[in-house]
Amino acid sequence: MAELRPSQSERKLIQEFFGLTMDVDRTREKGGSNPQDGQERFVPTCPICGDKHWPHHPLAPCFNAKKVKERVKAEAAAKVLAEKQARIDAKLQAKEQAHAEKLAKIEAKEQEKADKQAYYEAIKKA
Ligand SMILES: [Zn+2]
Repeated sequence: MAELRPSQSERKLIQEFFGLTMDVDRTREKGGSNPQDGQERFVPTCPICGDKHWPHHPLAPCFNAKKVKERVKAEAAAKVLAEKQARIDAKLQAKEQAHAEKLAKIEAKEQEKADKQAYYEAIKKA
């Protein structure tokens, strides 16, 4: 993609947009001589999409903004869905747990009955 060359007023907006305190011009002129990043040209990180690119336009600085917004929205929707599913799962699990406990109680009662029966049988035989 061709690099956008912002005008003076746009540069100011860009600097404000990225919260840059450094002099963009100086950084650009230095170019590859910048020992910190070793890159040919300074490209700021977009605070909207997180990619490294120059603002496309002061009023619409990020072409990915819509995509990012949609992604965030989709992620939020997925999260809500996951939470809903988790709630449903928890409810089902609780229901199953209750059912299992009920069954265990019934079984314990039957076991008790059987034990008593066995006990009486044993007494009868004795
Ligand atoms: Zn961006």
